[in-house]
Amino acid sequence: MKPLRVFAALAALAILEMGVATMSHASTTPVLVIHGGSGVIKRNLDHARENQVRAALARALQSGYAQLKAGKPALDGITAALTVLEDDPNFNAGRGAVFTHDGRNELDAAIMDGSTLRAGAVAGVERVKNPILLARAVMEKSQHVMLIGQGAEAFAKEAGISLVDPSYFRTEQRWQQLQKALKEDREGKPHSDTETAKHFGTVGAVALDARGHLAAGTSTGGMTDKRWGRVGDSPIIGAGTYANADCAVSGTGWGEFYIRTVAAHAICMRVSLMHVPLERAAAEVINQEIPSMGGNGGAIALDAKGNIAMPFNTDGMYRGWIGGDGVAHVAIYDDEPDAPTGADESDTAPFQPSP
Ligand code: ASP
Repeated sequence: MKPLRVFAALAALAILEMGVATMSHASTTPVLVIHGGSGVIKRNLDHARENQVRAALARALQSGYAQLKAGKPALDGITAALTVLEDDPNFNAGRGAVFTHDGRNELDAAIMDGSTLRAGAVAGVERVKNPILLARAVMEKSQHVMLIGQGAEAFAKEAGISLVDPSYFRTEQRWQQLQKALKEDREGKPHSDTETAKHFGTVGAVALDARGHLAAGTSTGGMTDKRWGRVGDSPIIGAGTYANADCAVSGTGWGEFYIRTVAAHAICMRVSLMHVPLERAAAEVINQEIPSMGGNGGAIALDAKGNIAMPFNTDGMYRGWIGGDGVAHVAIYDDEPDAPTGADESDTAPFQPSP
């Protein structure tokens, strides 16, 4: 064969192989799973609020899934879903975040790309409208993984991330929640508002994209009445947020315990190294290890096959998932059905706002 023909034959073979590779990646059914915080007290939500929360979760799922369906990376699915929840005052992230002891809103967020192990995080920011977008910019546009406070905000300006006046984050409900906690502090009483109380409404997302890549992200205002620049698990890679090639996790709960158990990483290492099924791996950490130490909360987890786990050891966890059927499924309480293991959840009820 003449050299030119050999070259043409090799090129044709390479193109064919590329095609096969692309086809096999494209065959992954995207999946998106979200949470809006754990700790719901049964029947504690009024009907209107419950409807708002369910509708917001459904909107976030649709927004994130539109990205995944269009072939965009898992990171895009996550940021699209989480910005919807950050903008919604019903959640403890972005607008609607809890107040610190000093009456401020200090926000934390993290994102991780499972296919490259790149990660970005921010903590203690007070003027960033969507902290998850800043975490992503830290990952994509800086040499670093984690930026805090004023430095993070200076970077936000350079990266073209929207800044707002701190009053943007304030909601009356969160302000009253702080006043109640401060009164209890003054009276030397333990905080009665177990709502979930001090830590509730954090938002998180894990996604599997059409190429089979996973990612995880979490955004929070932390815990009501927090002091001294307290930072929880959400922005700490491995504690509240983690993703690798096999597994992606976003946690929500009493952050100190998630940090001490390195919860998200502990789940994924069980999956990656010990080949423990995702559901069992997540349950061991969330429902055994954390409560045995005195902590509480929940998590969402997703593996590369599209298996979903959503364990929690509280009365409920705002949660939702969307897969092959393209239908947004949402749940709050522990007696509502969760996603069956696998990417196709067509046998669970779609979200219907009640009148
Ligand atoms: N884990 C968050 C924190 O401790 C709070 C939460 O998830 O509700 O800051």
